[in-house]
Amino acid sequence: MPDIKNMLKGYQSFFTKYYEVDHSIFKDLKYKQSPKILVLSCCDSRVDPAILTTASPGEMFVIRNIANIVPPYEPSWDSKHGISAAIEFAVTCLDIEDIIILGHSDCGGIKAMVDNTMETRGANSFILPWINIIKEAKANIPKNIDDSQKYCFCEQEAIKISINNLHKFPWVEDKFTRKKIDIHGWYFNMHNGLLYILNQETQVFEPYYS
Ligand SMILES: [Zn+2]
Repeated sequence: MPDIKNMLKGYQSFFTKYYEVDHSIFKDLKYKQSPKILVLSCCDSRVDPAILTTASPGEMFVIRNIANIVPPYEPSWDSKHGISAAIEFAVTCLDIEDIIILGHSDCGGIKAMVDNTMETRGANSFILPWINIIKEAKANIPKNIDDSQKYCFCEQEAIKISINNLHKFPWVEDKFTRKKIDIHGWYFNMHNGLLYILNQETQVFEPYYS
């Protein structure tokens, strides 16, 4: 696994690539960003949207949190909702055209929600109320589902809940209804490397094949 020295070596490669060899990317980017895509993904170290899509600097505005959750729309003048603020900035200050909620297999946040492992932390826990935002996913687990499938079910169900929450943000919904913004649900399965895309009609995640 890379240590700090290797990370600094990585930065040196970045500097060489973008500042010594090819100056074109940061020629304009150094003054202004204008990403067309907003990705909201998990903090998980294995699911970096930029690595997963080989995106270049400036292409994606990325918000990350535990279990890639869009919180409910809960405005108040003294609120400290960092995720909601980032969504508002992306949608109202940038020319975002697509929003992707990117979930993944083996998500620790989803597993904690399903297995109730954060319950004992009580009122001091920030994680518990956060993952409880998507607890409806657990309530929707079909009775006949195989036990090993319940995490995958909840990981995918949570993406649908987040998309639903996203529609409650008025500036998102305004641009969505005017077809200025589209919303997508993606699910990365680390076991087989496949990306599954939510079919908005059927509400089923389907594997993407190029
Ligand atoms: Zn996760």
